[in-house]
Amino acid sequence: MVDRGRISVERRESIYVPKDEKLRVEIIQLHHDTLIAEHRGQWKTVELVTRNYWWPGVTKKVKRYVEGCNQCQRMKNRAEKLAGKLRPNQIPERLWQHILVDFIMKLPMSKGHDSILVICNRFLKMSHFVATTKKNDSRKIGEVV
Ligand SMILES: [Zn+2]
Repeated sequence: MVDRGRISVERRESIYVPKDEKLRVEIIQLHHDTLIAEHRGQWKTVELVTRNYWWPGVTKKVKRYVEGCNQCQRMKNRAEKLAGKLRPNQIPERLWQHILVDFIMKLPMSKGHDSILVICNRFLKMSHFVATTKKNDSRKIGEVV
């Protein structure tokens, strides 16, 4: 530890691990899978491994290992919000009040058209199919609808 005024710089020697996949995986396991390591996340495992060891790509290797860890995947906390309750769609009361619009694309070119615009009336499930091209912009599609 070198003290330069108010800034302390700690210098540590790391052990270079030769290109031996089995050895590198074993080191990661010791710093991730053991009771002391407690299957902590990717960055904590990187920190623990690099306290004493280093090799080119150590961070990437640890990341892949932790992503593939079966126990971590099962205990993983969900970062995203849980989906809310399902809500049924509003029931239409008259024809063409609610429509569904979708495209069938990447079809073989036929008479200058390579896509089909599908317009479905939710009230009767009646559908209209309009030949179009994938190059049509929203304004042209709006004119068709
Ligand atoms: Zn794990």
